[in-house]
Amino acid sequence: MKIAMVGTGYVGLVTGACFANSGNDVTCVDIDKAKIEKLTRGEVPIFEPGLAEMVLQNVEMDRLHFTTDLAVAVANAEIVYLAVGTPQASDGSADLGALWSVVAGLARHLPPTAITVVKSTVPVGTNAKVYERLRELTDRDCEVASNPEFLKEGAAIDDFTEPDRVVVGVRSRRASEVLEELYRPFLQPDRPFLAMSPESAELTKYVANALLSTKISFINEMANLCERMEGDINEVRRGIGYDQRIGFAFLAPGVGYGGSCFPKDVRALACMAEEHGLKGQILRAVDEVNSLQKHVLTDKIEQHFGDDLLGRTLAVWGLAFKPQTDDIREAPALVMIDRLLERGVNLRVFDPEANANIRALYGDKLQYASTALEALNDADGLAINTEWSEFRQVEFETVKARLKSPLIFDGRNLYEPDQMRRHGFVYYSIGRLPVGVRGKRAPADCASVTQNG
Ligand code: NAD
Repeated sequence: MKIAMVGTGYVGLVTGACFANSGNDVTCVDIDKAKIEKLTRGEVPIFEPGLAEMVLQNVEMDRLHFTTDLAVAVANAEIVYLAVGTPQASDGSADLGALWSVVAGLARHLPPTAITVVKSTVPVGTNAKVYERLRELTDRDCEVASNPEFLKEGAAIDDFTEPDRVVVGVRSRRASEVLEELYRPFLQPDRPFLAMSPESAELTKYVANALLSTKISFINEMANLCERMEGDINEVRRGIGYDQRIGFAFLAPGVGYGGSCFPKDVRALACMAEEHGLKGQILRAVDEVNSLQKHVLTDKIEQHFGDDLLGRTLAVWGLAFKPQTDDIREAPALVMIDRLLERGVNLRVFDPEANANIRALYGDKLQYASTALEALNDADGLAINTEWSEFRQVEFETVKARLKSPLIFDGRNLYEPDQMRRHGFVYYSIGRLPVGVRGKRAPADCASVTQNG
């Protein structure tokens, strides 16, 4: 099929590359000239495992093209995907400026039988409005469908090609059939194609993100409670996770969720609830708990050093909002960096992929290490914000030798308290008693028999 992908960001590029890889002819269009120039030169502007290889391969096979010209992209397209950003507006709702500007531009070039598919996450009712707007502008009926995207950054290619399900919101059998055909290479009996109304499809995306965010805020609130009550959230997590009604997914304590989706989608859904006369209480609470959670590790740092924080040097591992991505949008690390810079702390930061993005934001306010170990040299302690796997497998004696004092603030519970005690660290984590801090009871030494899960 001939596909135009409008918006060549995270979702547009991954979707375009995967559709090209399954044999379609895809043209990706974006208003960002620098991005399109890079892609045309064969450079992929974001880090995502497997994406660069897939893009290059499909460009070589002449199935994937890039342009800044909407008319060129849309000419003869059977399907026009809209994958532009829908960031948060100042009131917390979704800003649809980019979407409406594309719709206005699209109307002049849209082939009469093309199906316009909204992949961007948009408030409920937007697909119906896109349909109305295109009808006004083209003076004819245009087919519009919703196809929300559920991929995760860091595993985007796998998520797209092996989706748990594909959701489409359609008004006609034809749209449903065309989209099912397009997705056929990725479907299996246990990976169904779910056709529903556009409103239900739009809601499905928000409800999924809201539930996942709720699980994260819930376990973080329980972690804070565990800490106050001298419990251990990792033990509690194991205790609940084997309950088949509960499970382990998205119930790992940490320093809060970030990224370009969860924060804005939870707030946008709360706005929608309020517009419809509901309070959206759970959604507001989830957002508030998350905002507070981003401060928890820095609170521990401030408490540990007391009045003696000014002029200290801390190593910071992990800047991306999660592993396997260079995305720092709404990353918990940003909250830590801002607070510690304000307190006059020198920060030596390292992330396997996100250093460049952080440098673009903070310039020479930070020191940038090119390896995790280099960040530690002569630092007064280490703070960890992201659970990159290379941080899990460290030589503790090397870490200790490089730091001025053996002190770790772990926002992702990467290490076992026992292990830290054996290596002589002072160790703070989330939802567990600190190690090596006077007045705090050492948890019972039973970690070795309760490791699973
Ligand atoms: P992004 O910011 O990475 O990319 C958006 C792209 O659209 C940018 O390259 C931008 O230049 C381009 N654009 C803006 N206006 C344009 C115009 N008029 N014409 C052409 N291009 C234009 O955003 P993203 O992360 O890819 O997200 C896109 C949508 O998908 C959002 O609604 C988001 O909520 C949703 N989504 C994102 C993810 C994710 O993990 N990033 C997952 C699922 C859904």
